[in-house]
Amino acid sequence: MEILKVENLTKTYGDGDNMVKALDDVSFVIEKGDFVAITGPSGSGKSTLLHILGGVDRPTSGKVWMDGRDVYGLDEEMLAVFRRRQVGLIYQFYNLIPVLDVVENMTLPVLMDGKEVAQERLTDLLGTLNLHGRENHLPNQLSGGQQQRVSIGRALMNEPVVLLADEPTGNLDSKNSQDIIELLKASNRKYDQTLIIITHDEAIARQANRILTIEDGKITRDEVIPS
Ligand code: ADP
Ligand code: ADP
Repeated sequence: MEILKVENLTKTYGDGDNMVKALDDVSFVIEKGDFVAITGPSGSGKSTLLHILGGVDRPTSGKVWMDGRDVYGLDEEMLAVFRRRQVGLIYQFYNLIPVLDVVENMTLPVLMDGKEVAQERLTDLLGTLNLHGRENHLPNQLSGGQQQRVSIGRALMNEPVVLLADEPTGNLDSKNSQDIIELLKASNRKYDQTLIIITHDEAIARQANRILTIEDGKITRDEVIPS
């Protein structure tokens, strides 16, 4: 089943002499439950693409459908709801809120939705992510690997349809990196969740079932990895 469809996506920043074309007429389809790695040189448009897939950054032109919904056909309010409920975003530097503790960071998207925190889900995630005993720690009291596990918890809290990760292991040593990838893969398998990871790490990209290469705003390679 098709979960994501991108059609003629173009994104430019600035104008006149300062105009940068970050994405240039990109089209592709991603199947539900796939694990896709996105690779390519720095500045090639990878983060821009991920942000547009996640409803964070509007395309200049072109369309994104997620689960049959025209994402940028939504008004701002519905787009914000879409971001909180359908998508989980994970960043290289975690983007945790420094004054909130582990549980508060993880449950923020739920609370922003005016919903009650599902305690069972929270307990489950704290266990899966090996964060028990850390519930009331602030981000600066945690190691890098732990902070990234909290950010995964936040991303998974709402059981998103698509999990998007921008260099999630870029700031971690190889042991912590593989731990993080295993957690993402487990969620991908358990919930038939679609996983899209930007990575420079060939060993991580090879664990995906598809590798998209972006160069200069265009998809230049689309490789299926046999399992
Ligand atoms: P990558 O993730 O592959 O490193 P990005 O998507 O971050 O690439 O950037 C693609 C291009 O768009 C780069 O030339 C970058 O400088 C430019 N760019 C990204 N974000 C902005 C922005 N907010 N304003 C202006 N230019 C930007
Ligand atoms: P990792 O192997 O995950 O990178 P570290 O070697 O950075 O872990 O940290 C080892 C332990 O010390 C971890 O359990 C972590 O929670 C704890 N720790 C790291 N930084 C701090 C800090 N600033 N305050 C309190 N505890 C910390």
